[in-house]
Amino acid sequence: MSHLSRQRDGAGKSVHITTFGCQMNQHDSGIVAGLFKKSGYLTTDDIEDADVILFNTCCVRAHAEQRLYSRVSQLKPLKIRKPHLIIGVGGCVAQREKAALTDRFPFIDVVFGTNAVADVISLVERVEQGERPIIHVPEEGSAPSSELAATSDRLRIHAWVSVMRGCDNYCSYCVVPYVRGPQRSKPPDEILGNVRSLASKGVVEVTLLGQNVNSYGQDLDGGVSFSRLLEILNDVSGLLRVRFTTSHPKDISKELMEAMRDLPKVCEHLHLPVQSGSSRILERMNRAYTADEYVRKVDMLREIVPGISVTTDIIIGFPGESDDDFEQTRSLVERVQFDGAYIFKYSSRPGTAAEHFEGKVDEMIIAKRHKALLEFQKSISIRRLEALAGSDQCVLAEEYDTTREGRLTGRTRGHRVASFPGDGSQIGKEVSVHIARVSRWTLVGKGAEAL
Ligand code: SAH
Ligand code: SF4
Repeated sequence: MSHLSRQRDGAGKSVHITTFGCQMNQHDSGIVAGLFKKSGYLTTDDIEDADVILFNTCCVRAHAEQRLYSRVSQLKPLKIRKPHLIIGVGGCVAQREKAALTDRFPFIDVVFGTNAVADVISLVERVEQGERPIIHVPEEGSAPSSELAATSDRLRIHAWVSVMRGCDNYCSYCVVPYVRGPQRSKPPDEILGNVRSLASKGVVEVTLLGQNVNSYGQDLDGGVSFSRLLEILNDVSGLLRVRFTTSHPKDISKELMEAMRDLPKVCEHLHLPVQSGSSRILERMNRAYTADEYVRKVDMLREIVPGISVTTDIIIGFPGESDDDFEQTRSLVERVQFDGAYIFKYSSRPGTAAEHFEGKVDEMIIAKRHKALLEFQKSISIRRLEALAGSDQCVLAEEYDTTREGRLTGRTRGHRVASFPGDGSQIGKEVSVHIARVSRWTLVGKGAEAL
């Protein structure tokens, strides 16, 4: 179907998209929104108003899945009132549950898997022509280009760019390899083309996405490593910043650390999930590194890239986690002094190896450990943020500060939020900001100078 006839198809209609989960899902939803926009649809925040309601789902933890089911079940009365409403569920829950979703919620019209993002418009068109329900969950599919998303990026200066899909690591708690499939890296030429095109449209910062970017390229002929990919992207003109997530500690190399030091556009922030500070638990998690090895890698990183900001993910209450294991996690957190951490309660996921592990930890104990570690890490995060008061930071101006008049907000290279005096002409540019103080997790700057 031609581009023009597509535009007519959607004209006057609107789509509402709800996204659960990780940046990969945010990125995919951006693409879906871009495809609908191209077809003439408007996006709406008002669910009552929408002609198409889509959910992009996550099943990494049970909580997100339960929220999805409750949100979907609330739509039943709306569907009865508006029979032409199209309800679609995509993402990881769709990939795993397939027809079980429409069995449970017969008013869902279309289920599309993680490899079917590029097909979403044609699926909706088929529903409009009377075909329903449609379950489209291919094992493989063409990877949609990140460029498609740029059209719907709110701030046109930042874009997510997926560099690989899937994961081969099979951490024992994790459902991702089962729903997202094996690791598939995108060829470097394709990524370069994507990023060049985004930069030509005014995007100045990209975040490269993959479940384990450190093993990028290992599944491709031609041997391009992740640090080589960074080198290639560092040369894209117009681009100011390159970020990436997520790194796996077992695969992070000295070469990558040196690339972070040497490539001016690559920002000094590393998200390096540790998951636990107990080597015994790490082994049960199938993480393939010990707590000591992790700490040594962070030490090496900080030596090579002084001042780098390091963040992490931690799981509390993995089966078999004793008081002593938890204490080792707390002590690693104290030793490493992370700039930030996502701390999750363990959630048993169907089909994973850990589902049947012995030693289930009592919910109350998990809650207590979780709270204690959250508070401990919060005090560290604040201290590390406050240490930046008095320094000059290079900040990319992103948007107006809605809470403080005459000011803009943006991010430092270390990914911290800063607010500073400025005007719209600075948006999309890097400025040097003198940090006066910290207020509610924000670095408050006194003045901003062009760089
Ligand atoms: N590929 C990335 C992260 C993927 S999922 C990595 O390996 O780092 C994001 C985070 O969710 C993980 O780092 C982990 O901390 C958390 N997570 C994954 N499965 C989980 C589970 N079953 N229960 C609790 N947290 C989980
Ligand atoms: Fe899940 Fe481990 Fe793969 Fe991350 S590396 S996606 S935690 S299996």
